[in-house]
Amino acid sequence: MKTRRFCPKCGRPVLKSHNDKHYNNYSFQCFSCDEDFFKTEVLRKKDLVQVRLLQHTTLRYELETGTHNYSIYKPYPRHNV
Ligand SMILES: [Zn+2]
Repeated sequence: MKTRRFCPKCGRPVLKSHNDKHYNNYSFQCFSCDEDFFKTEVLRKKDLVQVRLLQHTTLRYELETGTHNYSIYKPYPRHNV
């Protein structure tokens, strides 16, 4: 499910967790960082300045390291489904 919440590490939009086992503890997932985040950890629209900074840093890093293969403005695709 698409959300308007953002990863506190890379700034990409996060996806709602479908992991039932962690459902009560982890609410959002970033498949770029391969991490789960609490509802209180993810960034929201009010944090957009910070989100843009993170996205910019991520994009620059990925371009420099040649690892940029997916838009930083879309949720990273879920793997192993
Ligand atoms: Zn991330």
